[in-house]
Amino acid sequence: MKLIVLGSGTLVPHVRRGAPGYVVSGDGSPELLLFDSGSGTLQRAARAGLDWRAVNHIFYTHYHPDHTLDLVSFLFAANYAPPAPRTRPLTVYGPEGLENFYGHLVSAWPSIAPRRYDLDLRVLSHGAELRIKGGWRVNCMAMDHGESGGLGYRVERSGRVLALSGDTQYCENLVRLARGANLLVCECSSDEANRVEGHMTPAQLARAATESETKKVLITHVYPPLEPPELADQCGQLCGVSIEPAVDLHSYEV
Ligand SMILES: [Zn+2]
Ligand SMILES: [Zn+2]
Repeated sequence: MKLIVLGSGTLVPHVRRGAPGYVVSGDGSPELLLFDSGSGTLQRAARAGLDWRAVNHIFYTHYHPDHTLDLVSFLFAANYAPPAPRTRPLTVYGPEGLENFYGHLVSAWPSIAPRRYDLDLRVLSHGAELRIKGGWRVNCMAMDHGESGGLGYRVERSGRVLALSGDTQYCENLVRLARGANLLVCECSSDEANRVEGHMTPAQLARAATESETKKVLITHVYPPLEPPELADQCGQLCGVSIEPAVDLHSYEV
C-alpha cells in the first residue's frame, strides 16, 4: 500500500503545505482512494503524476472547507475536462450530512451535477465497514472534532494497515482506529501552549501512538507559525514511536 500526501496543511495558506488531501494506492489494485480534498488537491495530484480520473472513491472525514473544497473542482472537471465527460461511476463517502452538503454545492453550482456518470453518495457512521474491489477494507470510527463531528478511516490491504485521523482531539476511538497500524497519519494542530479545542497536541498524539501501538506516525495539519518538524520532535520526546512530519507530494510505503 502506498500513501501519497497531496496536502499536509490546514486552512492557513502556506508555501509548502496544502490543504488536506491523501491518495492511497496498492500494487495490482486499479483503484485509487482519495481521502479529503482541500483546495488545490487536484492540482497537486497532477504535480504528483497521479491521474485524478482514476479516482473512483472519495472519502471525507468531515465537511470543513479545508478538507472538501476540491470536490467542486473534481465534479466540474469530471463533466467538462477534455477529451470527454466522465462515464465511470464515482462513490463519495462521508459522515452524516453528506446529502445536505452535496445538495448545497449543486444549488450553488448546478454544472457540477453528473452529466454522464453515476454518482453514489454513501453516508457512513461509526463502525461501518466497506469492502472495495482490489482487496481493500475500510473501517470508520467517530472522532472528536467538537460539534463538527467527523470520521477517522482505517484502511487495510494485504495485511497492512493505514489509519487516517482527519481532524480530532485525543479520544479512545482514535486509539482503536490506529490499533497496531503500520502507519498513522494524524493531525497535530498546535503545541500545548496554543491548544485548540477539537484538535491534537504533541502530548495527545504521543498518548494515542503509545496506546494504539502504531508502528509509525506522520504528523499533519499543523497550524503556522508552528512547523511539523517542531511538533514531531516534541512528540518524539514523549513516546517511543517513530514520528515524522508529513511532506506534500511525498509518497510513503505503508
Ligand atoms: Zn482541518
Ligand atoms: Zn475541521
